[in-house]
Amino acid sequence: MSAEIKFLWKALWRAKVPGKVKICIWRACLDALPTRVNLKMRKVLMDDGCVFCGNEPKTIEHVLLRCPHAKATWCSSPLGLPSMQHGDIGLQGWLARLVYHLSRESFELVLILLWNIWKARNELVWKGVTIAPQEIPIKAHTWLLEFKKWNVVQPKTKTADVHKWRKPEEGWLKCNFDGAWDEHRAVGRVGIVIKDTDGEFVAAALLKLEGITTTLLVETTAAREAMLFVQQWWTQKVILEGDALLVIAAIQNGVNVNHGPYGLVGDCCYSEWRTLLQPFQQWKAQFVRKEVNSVAHRLARRGLTLERSVSWFEKFSDVILGLLLEDKLNS
Ligand SMILES: [Zn+2]
Repeated sequence: MSAEIKFLWKALWRAKVPGKVKICIWRACLDALPTRVNLKMRKVLMDDGCVFCGNEPKTIEHVLLRCPHAKATWCSSPLGLPSMQHGDIGLQGWLARLVYHLSRESFELVLILLWNIWKARNELVWKGVTIAPQEIPIKAHTWLLEFKKWNVVQPKTKTADVHKWRKPEEGWLKCNFDGAWDEHRAVGRVGIVIKDTDGEFVAAALLKLEGITTTLLVETTAAREAMLFVQQWWTQKVILEGDALLVIAAIQNGVNVNHGPYGLVGDCCYSEWRTLLQPFQQWKAQFVRKEVNSVAHRLARRGLTLERSVSWFEKFSDVILGLLLEDKLNS
């Protein structure tokens, strides 16, 4: 990733705008929004004309910057920005250039404007409602002021290094896992995130569990699923990292003895874990605090609202994308 793009992602993540706006812009930059061209490539739509002007292919740059509708919006904004010049630098390049020149507040307004142009396009596509370009900047500005009024950001407390996720040593993979439990529905979720020695994302999974009656059961199952999942990535050495102290201690101590002091966890777990860990040349189990395990933790928590199990390696979804981006920029 170039320094400019990294700077852009940081600015994007730190901008005081709602999370859904950041995710939307981030996806737009990666060209992952369902524009007509994208939908056509996936054979969802047959024609790719712009919904506003009808004559150009509806790429993300066209919708947000080049379309006469978008240009009129930018012209009537207080920023008075020139819209995108010819010469294709893409939305990502355009934003990366802007972020250096604009104040933080102006950059935030740019993000809100982009989001509102995208929203206006959706209103027209899905509801047949037309919003005049001149109205968009006023709406966007009011909306941003409201958001700021209600979201006074607390100053961030500086966490010491011991409370940060650490990269595994050369040759190791680190597998963070956590479980979440919905007592009333008796369902659980397991969140698993694997990263390599550069701290780069390797894979993640969100698994659905049924018939979960205790927190401990979620946590022991999470450990088992993590061991199974990490086996799919060819590695000799793995660190299993979780924030359930009892389970981590049980893995550390129980696997090597027949009946450890962790009776609650149960003998069947020990023998299963022992089998699952056998393929690895070396393994470690490490306890960390919740905030260090936050990606796995929040993945499992958010997963409670999803109805099926998912795993990600090459393809990202919003759930994991948002978490990873935030995690990367905070590290
Ligand atoms: Zn157009």
